[in-house]
Parts: sequence; C-alpha cells; structure tokens
Amino acid sequence: MPIELTFLGTGSMVPTKERNVIGMFLSYKNKGILFDCGEGTQRQMNIAGVNRNKVNYVLLSHWHGDHVSGLIGLIQTLGNQQIQNEERPILHIFGPKETEERMEHMLKTCIFENKVVLEIHELNPKRGEILTVLENEDFYIQAARLDHSVPCLGYSFIEKDTRKIDMGKVKKLGLTEGPLVGKLQNGDVVKHEDKVITPEMVSELKKGLKITVIMDTGLCEMAIELAKDSDLLICEATFSSELGEKAENYKHMTAKDAALLANNANAKRLIITHISQRYKTTSEILDDAKNVHNSVEVAYDFMKVKL
Ligand SMILES: [Zn+2]
Ligand SMILES: [Zn+2]
Repeated sequence: MPIELTFLGTGSMVPTKERNVIGMFLSYKNKGILFDCGEGTQRQMNIAGVNRNKVNYVLLSHWHGDHVSGLIGLIQTLGNQQIQNEERPILHIFGPKETEERMEHMLKTCIFENKVVLEIHELNPKRGEILTVLENEDFYIQAARLDHSVPCLGYSFIEKDTRKIDMGKVKKLGLTEGPLVGKLQNGDVVKHEDKVITPEMVSELKKGLKITVIMDTGLCEMAIELAKDSDLLICEATFSSELGEKAENYKHMTAKDAALLANNANAKRLIITHISQRYKTTSEILDDAKNVHNSVEVAYDFMKVKL
C-alpha cells in the first residue's frame, strides 16, 4: 500500500495566485494525516481530490496564522456533514505548547455548534528529546522541538518494518499455515519437529519508510536528529541564501540550510516548501539547495508524491 502525499499549500505567510499557505495531506492505508492547515486548505482539498472526511490526525507545527487559520472551517464542515451520517467524527489534533488553550479560543471565534469530537494532544518535548506521540500497528509518529520564534514542532511519520513470509520455504521445512507461521511473521523463532526455525530462514524484512516534515525553524540540531535517515525530508525554505540574514532574523531556513539539513541527517530525498511570495520562479531556491544536496525538488500546490 503506497504512501501518498498531496501538497495543498506551499507558500509562506500570504496566499498568492500560484501558492496557497501551508497544508499537506498524507494518506496511508485507511488513515489520513493533515500536516498544518492554513487558510483555504478545504478548497485546496476539493481541487486536489482529497476527501476531508479521511482526515484522522492533524499535526500542527506551530500557531502562526498561515499554518492554522484553516482549521476552524475544517472542523465546522466535518461537523455539518455529520448531521447526515449521524456518527460524530473524531479528530485528533496534535500541536505544541499552548495548543489546548488556543484550540479553546479558536472554537469561540465563530458561532457554530461543534459536532466533531476533538482529541487535543498538547506536546511539549524537552530540549533534545524525540517524542513518540502516536503509534498503531502500521506506523508511528515522532515529534521534536524546533527553533522558531514561537513553540514549533517537527514531525516524522515512520512506517513499521514488515516481514514477508516465503510460503515455499516454509513448506520445505514441513510447516503449513498456522500459529507457528504467525509467530514467524511476528519475528519470533519457532521450534518444529525438533528443528529451530528463525524468521530470517523463511522471510524477508521490508524496511518501513520514514518521512520527516520540518516546518518553520532555523537550522538546528533537533531537526537533524528527527530527520535522521529519512527516505523523504519535506522542509521549509522561505528564502535562498542571498537573504540568509533575513532567514536568520526570522528563524527560518534558506534552501541551502534545508539541503545541509538533508545532508547532515542522511536524508535521501528533499522536497522544499513554504516558499516566500517574493520568488516568482523556483530556480533560485532550487539552485541554492542543489549545490549542496543531489536530490532536491521544490513543491508546488497539488503536487502528489507516491512512495
Ligand atoms: Zn510559516
Ligand atoms: Zn512561523
């Protein structure tokens, strides 16, 4: 089952004709994860063909408006649709320090009856800590504190390794399908007719994929730690190195910083997003990063990536 990513917004601060503000949807098996939810994200979903009812988790990087201002509308819509379905939808919202309080304020800013069950998970990883914030049988999510002007989190989606049993090999050893094969599938060693069978003898381990999303931050140690060995790093780069000083002052990254982060973290592939409206084409951003890392793309709205 592939992981599918849809970039719903790829600009920083202000929506432009070409780029909406930040939002990205990850779909995997029957789960949907929305990374940030800038203004207009719902409409972007319509255009991209993303079903908003499929959102189970919202992972907020931080509370700057361009990353969260679409959330109230999304909650309202999900609630309204519920009237027909009669089952109250559940939305898990993860975010940094103050998320509980800010969600409470946000829900008071419009007049509507909230019919969505909101499970708020306020995360406060310590400096230097990587927190596992969600885990199920297929994947887990980790978060770490970044270095922005306000509390900000980076997230990693980590698919669990899967073991593929070779039934031919299993049968050769005299085993048929049953609880022992189930144990081998789980990675356990089993004994059959006095023979010890290890999972390695009859199966192959497929390494799970790791995708890391680093939003607003200066280049920092925890971003590198979190992104370690990612198959795909999605990273903000508001500016090119030419405006390095500006990036530093506002605690943002340049495209070169994003590429350095990818290199230092040993990330295979880099996709840059959160581009400042000042860049009318992507060539300056792309060149700046490509000087440092060999697999760089610049995201555009509605770009889809399958892994
Ligand atoms: Zn931003
Ligand atoms: Zn910000």
